[in-house]
Amino acid sequence: MTKPLRFLQHYSPTLQDKIRQLQAQDLLGDYITQRYPQYHSIQTDKALYQYSNEIKQAFLRNAPVLDRVQYDNKLGIEHHALGLNTAISRVQGGKLKAKKEIRISSFFKESPIEFLRMIVVHELAHLKERDHDKAFYQLCQHMEPHYHQLEFDCRVYLTWKSEAKI
Ligand SMILES: [Zn+2]
Repeated sequence: MTKPLRFLQHYSPTLQDKIRQLQAQDLLGDYITQRYPQYHSIQTDKALYQYSNEIKQAFLRNAPVLDRVQYDNKLGIEHHALGLNTAISRVQGGKLKAKKEIRISSFFKESPIEFLRMIVVHELAHLKERDHDKAFYQLCQHMEPHYHQLEFDCRVYLTWKSEAKI
């Protein structure tokens, strides 16, 4: 039995085999760079907030205001490959106030723009849908029609990048 690919274990064995073949031929990098040649220039938390808020205002105008969006270099790609969305409750003036914060692994400071967008869309969808259910993915697709393809390819990208580190 072949081991499931860490970032792709929810995909079909056929699809995983296809990626494993590319990996064996050292072609994962080509697969990614041919499809996604353009890296992004969103390097600061301020720029990341603006970028995220523009998508939010275009598609989720009625969702809660984003208090903060930031890169987090303590977020590895191991556990939170797709970012972290937190509603932090703080007591403010005697009232409990939930703050909407999105944190994205600093790993994505250097990545194709499409993957950053996919992750931002994923985290924005969590403002309205908590679980990864049908309604959640419908919302993701509403914001980004190619969401599913991008999530798959982003996981291929993670597979490529994580193997390069070994
Ligand atoms: Zn999620």
